[in-house]
Amino acid sequence: MRQRHKPWADDFLKEHDTIVLPNAIEHKGKWASHFGNNRPIHLEIGTGKGQFISGMAKQHPDINFIGIELAKSVIVNAAEKVIEADQKNVVLLNENAEKLTELFGESEIDTIYLNFSDPWPKNRHEKRRLTFQAFLQRYEQCLVPNGEIILKTDNGPFFEYSLVSFSQFGLVLEEVNVDLHKAEDEWNIMTEYEEKFSAKGQPIYRCRAHFNNISKG
Ligand code: SAM
Repeated sequence: MRQRHKPWADDFLKEHDTIVLPNAIEHKGKWASHFGNNRPIHLEIGTGKGQFISGMAKQHPDINFIGIELAKSVIVNAAEKVIEADQKNVVLLNENAEKLTELFGESEIDTIYLNFSDPWPKNRHEKRRLTFQAFLQRYEQCLVPNGEIILKTDNGPFFEYSLVSFSQFGLVLEEVNVDLHKAEDEWNIMTEYEEKFSAKGQPIYRCRAHFNNISKG
């Protein structure tokens, strides 16, 4: 994602601290009370400029959405979308997903979305991939028993790596789609990256997988 320095970002984030929460760790284990209801919570990791999370929140008013995004320079764009649409079922966290278990308690999340995650193609950077085993361990802890991960990408090698990583971790693959846009899917909300790559004619890959740990609860 192109990340321009935005000198106004700090002030903007301070002004909108009910959308981009500054002390997210304080909400660990208490996200339902933050939202004021017991609706399912879906988490997007690497939210970018927010088209997906904002679109999903509109399409699913009965679900609470949390977006985690490392880069301040793009989370401000996501926040602008949420503010513009006055969405009460979305909050954003300017955090690193490595801290996931500090941010969420056991079984607090129902579904995790990984959209166009950075592929980190070099072997020595494998640990940074959001589908590396250490990340799957964190996801398993925060997700409900048999919780689901939904991944979309344009990157074939990253898709293949993720499928193998999921299988090795014991996740069950529910769907493996190697050309998501071939069939009309009226429910699919496109991300900014998805629009960009599909406009170039690149196929979009999607998989849905769930943990196989019903005994967890
Ligand atoms: N999901 C958006 C889309 O599809 O348009 C953005 C995709 S962009 C390639 C990946 C995003 O993930 C970047 O904005 C990056 O800052 C964010 N990111 C990468 N690693 C992250 C991490 N460990 N925690 C939180 N965000 C991360």
